[in-house]
Amino acid sequence: MATQESVKDTTIPISHINGITMSIQTNLDYYSQQLKNYNAQLIAVSKTKPNADLLQAYDAGHRDFGENKVQELAAKAEALPKDIRWHMIGHLQRNKVKYLAPFVHLIHSVDSQRLLNEVNKQALKNERIIDCLLQVFIAEEDTKFGFDEAELMTLFSSPEFRALENIRIVGLMGMATNTDNTDQVRSEFERLRKISERITREVDSDKVTMNELSMGMTADYEIALEEGSTMVRIGSAIFGARNYAKH
Ligand SMILES: *Cc1c(COP(=O)(O)O)cnc(C)c1O
Repeated sequence: MATQESVKDTTIPISHINGITMSIQTNLDYYSQQLKNYNAQLIAVSKTKPNADLLQAYDAGHRDFGENKVQELAAKAEALPKDIRWHMIGHLQRNKVKYLAPFVHLIHSVDSQRLLNEVNKQALKNERIIDCLLQVFIAEEDTKFGFDEAELMTLFSSPEFRALENIRIVGLMGMATNTDNTDQVRSEFERLRKISERITREVDSDKVTMNELSMGMTADYEIALEEGSTMVRIGSAIFGARNYAKH
């Protein structure tokens, strides 16, 4: 993941184009407006950003925030208003699920049956049902986690999966290859949508619905929307470039 993030980091955030520093609120307004035409939801990716930045977004009315590290997400959830909906978007280790299970709104990054089993176990402990997206590997890079199409179909038909009662699969998440080749990015997003359509047709389970397609980030969200995204995860264009050196 580190490799990929450092590359994405070179994107010029919209907030600094032409040397004009726009506010977090202005950026949120801009993206919310764009998303309206697509009936998609904006997940503000606030990783590495201080609580004060999240509060600015919160005060502007935003409630859905995405983080990619358990510790950071949990600390922010502790410190910030309780009506924030927290989205876990980064690779999740099984031994850390317990820290998110009491409150997480949606886990975008479920990438194995074993992780799903653990989410189910921790959800049961907390007497809740946790909504999950299954992360699908659609990129050419080998730095990205996720199921492939065949693995997904195997998962859905396994008795082990059928026995899970405290999770719901509400859609898929994917990350396209980090490339300037927009045709490639488009075809990767299209593949993800087609996989979700196949699941809708072929999988008969009351805990599987394909309502959400989490795809698109700062660099490729427009293509993702055109290909049917219902959730775009935008970070640097809202909060400015991330400085990993400090962490
Ligand atoms: C960081 C991150 C994003 C947001 O990236 P930006 O390029 O800053 O918009 C989206 N999705 C995932 C999984 C991420 O880790």
